[in-house]
Amino acid sequence: MAETPRFVEHARDGDVHVLRIANAPVNTLRTEVRAGLLEGLKAAAGAKAVVIIGSGRNFSAGAEMTEFGKPRVPPSLTDVFDAIEASPVPVVAAIHGNALGGGLELALACHARVAAPGAQVGLPEVKRGFVPGAGGTQRLPRLIGLEALKIIVGGEPVSAEQAVKLGFVDAVVDGPLEKAAVDWTRANAGRQFTLARNRTDKIAGYDAAAFDAAVKPLTARTRGQESPLGCVEAVRAAFTMPFEEGLKVERDQFQRLVAGEQSQALRHIFFGEREAQRVPDLPADAKGLTVNKLVVIGGGTMGGGIAMSAANFGLPVTIVETSAEALEKGLKRCEANWERTVKSGRLSQAEYEKRRALLSGTTEFEKAVGEADLVIEAVFENMEVKKEVFGRLDKAARPGVVLASNTSTLDIDGIASATKRPELVIGMHFFSPANVMRLLENVRGSATNATAIATATEVGKRIGKLPVLVGNCDGFVGNRMTGKRGPQVEKLLLEGCLPQDIDRVMEGYGMAMGPLATGDLAGLDIGAAVRKARGTVAPIADAVVAAGRLGQKTSKGYYDYDENRKRIPSKEVEQIILDTAEKMQVRRRKIEDQEILERLLLPMVNEGARILEEGVASRPIDIDVIFVNGFGWPAFRGGPMFWADRMGLKAVRDKLAHYAEVTGDRNLQPCALIEKLATEGGSFATLKRAA
Ligand code: NAD
Repeated sequence: MAETPRFVEHARDGDVHVLRIANAPVNTLRTEVRAGLLEGLKAAAGAKAVVIIGSGRNFSAGAEMTEFGKPRVPPSLTDVFDAIEASPVPVVAAIHGNALGGGLELALACHARVAAPGAQVGLPEVKRGFVPGAGGTQRLPRLIGLEALKIIVGGEPVSAEQAVKLGFVDAVVDGPLEKAAVDWTRANAGRQFTLARNRTDKIAGYDAAAFDAAVKPLTARTRGQESPLGCVEAVRAAFTMPFEEGLKVERDQFQRLVAGEQSQALRHIFFGEREAQRVPDLPADAKGLTVNKLVVIGGGTMGGGIAMSAANFGLPVTIVETSAEALEKGLKRCEANWERTVKSGRLSQAEYEKRRALLSGTTEFEKAVGEADLVIEAVFENMEVKKEVFGRLDKAARPGVVLASNTSTLDIDGIASATKRPELVIGMHFFSPANVMRLLENVRGSATNATAIATATEVGKRIGKLPVLVGNCDGFVGNRMTGKRGPQVEKLLLEGCLPQDIDRVMEGYGMAMGPLATGDLAGLDIGAAVRKARGTVAPIADAVVAAGRLGQKTSKGYYDYDENRKRIPSKEVEQIILDTAEKMQVRRRKIEDQEILERLLLPMVNEGARILEEGVASRPIDIDVIFVNGFGWPAFRGGPMFWADRMGLKAVRDKLAHYAEVTGDRNLQPCALIEKLATEGGSFATLKRAA
């Protein structure tokens, strides 16, 4: 007798045979699970029906992505689905937790699906850069028609309740799922089930115009990403071709995309986001403090956003301000922000009220801080002010409480020196708008201990952020690297580009916004103030600011802006650029797009490598995750270090050396780490493995 496979457990409930997928933690459909399901279906012979369920907290998160790119070991998912569809008795999927990707495809191949309340079902393959590859694009449209586009091209999961409304889950059942599913199956065993592959009602009467109209909003903002278009073509095949031919279109799209660079980049980021949250040198038993009350000092742009994030995720938070007026202004801004979300339909009134009730404000600094389990400071960016605030915090906070600063440029050790607990002082660098941006750079000072790091990491995760631990230096990781791009922007403008040329190239690459439009959004006076403080000049940027062009807030910066904040290329700026070039005797020339891209990205890569040399970031992936989550870098490009690896570090070194020579920018001299890796034939990816 065959041994019971380890990854699929069997149980008999009367005449219903139950197959339990047991591959913790998320029941990915690895080879052993697929084989176990096939055997299980055979072993079920004689039963009146079969129920497939997941053990633990999920049905199944789908394919085992670590098996991608390796020789395929049978049976395939398709083999399993063929067996389900050939089964003489109904096979019912019982879904709880998540049924995603291949997990949902498994359920779609079954005769029926039931789910526990609140279960999530979806096909997120598009977000990993490919298309569902086991019939999802063919079966789902046959069950729900054009609505399938949103789920497959958009990639967002829906609740089981919504799935029932849409028509691809048969029922939401209450009570312990296995029993409820068996009961439902038994009650419905006499029913004539039509397999998804045999349904035609929802795909009849294909109308190309209606199809394209449904596609349009879903692909409007995908910026050069290939997988949404692959999904569209696969779904179109469901409407225009017989099932088997549609499967072939799907398979071709899957194989093409999964082998492509974009999918590799997206998977690099998907796994990287998990890895980056694990701090490498933290003792295994390091635990954060229990935080039931957050206090945020300063209710300005950042303080308000941080407080909203806490309330959004159920953590009570108090804002401390210096005056009643400033406090009221801060709280009003949070309210207005939430109200806008309610108006747009993305937040219910009840949920808004729940969040609002978790947010309070006060001007009584000592009293509030005395009750805090964690303090995050977000006052003006000035060392004297920060030191004064931290001196007061240290006296008012209970011993052992972690004191964090949201500073974006100041020395954490300097701030910590104002306290008697430097080991509990840490940077928590949020990004603007803080209630929206996922990235959180946690900054470790020289004295910061494991408790402080664990607390900042845990609280960050809890309030919906993606915390990445970085070292203490000017600009930390993200801003420090982006800062190295500035001099090249200036030089490119001088040598031949206009703002719109540079932004077009960067946005064409997939960046959310080009560097000049970003400057206009943030305010060009900020950069000017930094240059002044550092005693540096940027002739064009300085001339633009001198002309009163401070960015969107003055309706003109590198661009002119109309009343809808639409950017319009500026004649005045063009003249400023031409005049400056003439004055500096620079002969302008046509600059190719590739040169623009390389001159903007390579300085960042070089600085990223220096950051690794210094240990300011622990791993290359941390840098990539920072750029994708905090700086509008498209995930399907994988981040700056991934980009460099793709180019090859020899080429990176040679190009850096070339641009250093022709532009005279010493910052572009390839750093020691790049020299070393290029000489050894190494890459940032191999560096990660060696560490
Ligand atoms: P802001 O000027 O909008 O807000 C600062 C607030 O702090 C003001 O409302 C002020 O009244 C209050 N404040 C000042 N001293 C205080 C005190 N002693 N006690 C209580 N409240 C006090 O500034 P912001 O843009 O929110 O920046 C705050 C911090 O966040 C700075 O360190 C900044 O560098 C950092 N930061 C800003 C951004 C950004 O994009 N704005 C991004 C990341 C980090």
